[in-house]
Amino acid sequence: MAKKVLIIDDSFTQLSSLKIFFKREGFDVETAKDGLEGFVKVYNTAPDVVISDVLMPHLGGFQLCRLLKSNKETKDIPFIMLTVLDKNLDKFWANQSGADLFLRKDYDMGQIVDAAKRAIEEMPVPDSVKHELINYEIQEDEVISQINKILDYELMKTTITNKFREIKDYTKDDIEVAKKIFAILSEIVEYDIACIYFNSPDSSLPKRLIFDEQDSCVSEKVMLSIWRQLLDSEGHDFKPEKTCKKEGLKEINSLEDLVFKKEFDFYYENILIGKLCLFSRENLSWHKMRFMHTVKDELDLFLRLKYLYSKTRFLSITDELTKLYTRRHLNSVLSQEFERAKRYNTILTVCMIDIDDFKKINDTYGHLAGDLILKEISELLLNTLRKTDFVYRYGGEEICILLPETPLQNAVIPLERLRRIIENKTFVFENYNIKATISVGISTYTKSTRTAQELIERADNALYKAKNAGKNRIITENDE
Ligand code: GH3
Ligand code: MG
Ligand code: MG
Repeated sequence: MAKKVLIIDDSFTQLSSLKIFFKREGFDVETAKDGLEGFVKVYNTAPDVVISDVLMPHLGGFQLCRLLKSNKETKDIPFIMLTVLDKNLDKFWANQSGADLFLRKDYDMGQIVDAAKRAIEEMPVPDSVKHELINYEIQEDEVISQINKILDYELMKTTITNKFREIKDYTKDDIEVAKKIFAILSEIVEYDIACIYFNSPDSSLPKRLIFDEQDSCVSEKVMLSIWRQLLDSEGHDFKPEKTCKKEGLKEINSLEDLVFKKEFDFYYENILIGKLCLFSRENLSWHKMRFMHTVKDELDLFLRLKYLYSKTRFLSITDELTKLYTRRHLNSVLSQEFERAKRYNTILTVCMIDIDDFKKINDTYGHLAGDLILKEISELLLNTLRKTDFVYRYGGEEICILLPETPLQNAVIPLERLRRIIENKTFVFENYNIKATISVGISTYTKSTRTAQELIERADNALYKAKNAGKNRIITENDE
């Protein structure tokens, strides 16, 4: 069957010569003398390709193209823009309005026909679309309302973009950041439940999945199953949280109660940096989903910036060799924790660990062997302790641990286990089997503790005693 071309041009001579040429090439040709008439004809004739001039009365080519490309029924019809304009800005606008091809009018007719044939071949319009178009009763005043819709849509997009740009505070508590994102989201789409996940470059932090409830609320059980589905995690460091608790919402007890699920994954250099998921009891309309694309683009940018910001911060507070936090970071965290202990009379225990005879290890097996042992002991510490215990590289081979909410005697238990693991471990470096041990000194906050520094000094004194007593042991400040 002959392919149908719709040619739109306000110049009578241009229109006639194109018509003759396309007819000779076996096309079925429809014509229109401006964008407005062209728009109506797209519906009435369902062409395989549209070729349009740019500068025309009533409705120009850029606007016509934008209209057609933003309509579900017409967006798949290839649109070729034919014009005398050839400035960069013209090409930019042609692209922005969604034109599939931009051709100068001084191309010869053969090239224009070839371009049309190629466009039809590469972007064939399905019969179902043509059928739908022909059956659609289009009125000319509909154009005005559609233009308004586009203007509204563009304005909405800009508004969404601006709203996202207003959340600049990447460092604030994740819950606060999530709340702001949900606030924007809930103004745009209706959902029952949404959840968001921010990944962090610091793998020692617990993974948090933050939920927002609009029209339904979820039970712990459902949150857990969402967590399992989304993050494929064993759940051991599972931490689902809600932004706030609302009363009187219908409870969702099973994921099957929700028909609509939309999941957006955000990656940066192959790392999953974040996730957004929407659950609803109803499907979302196509128009609403179009706004979700803008949300997705904005969220993508936001999450990249957030991740890079956290990464820069993480690198600045972690030691490269051991992956432990630095002493500088200890100073700031210790003073915060100390103030908290003082104000609320909570427990804060400090451990100082030092590798025994480390100089001898370096002298016997070389500095790289020493590095390896330091690295492996740090890894053991990170894997053995709770996520809430913070481990710092204090000096060369000295490590400091802050254990909030852990009484002194309870701190001895995991450290004794660790001391024994290290004592029994053989570190392998090149052809050497190397043995190493650690000594530990522990102190804890009491009402009479005056400064954070004093806590460190008391742990250091206990460590000194452990060394004097023969090393490879734990001594607390309470030991005689
Ligand atoms: P003690 O049992 O009393 O702690 O004796 P020691 O030899 O461990 O203690 P000393 O403080 O005399 O020596 C610590 C050594 O650790 C000296 C230093 O060269 C070495 N050191 C410090 N940082 C590093 C590091 O990052 N890598 C390696 N390989 N060695 C380090
Ligand atoms: Mg040492
Ligand atoms: Mg030392």
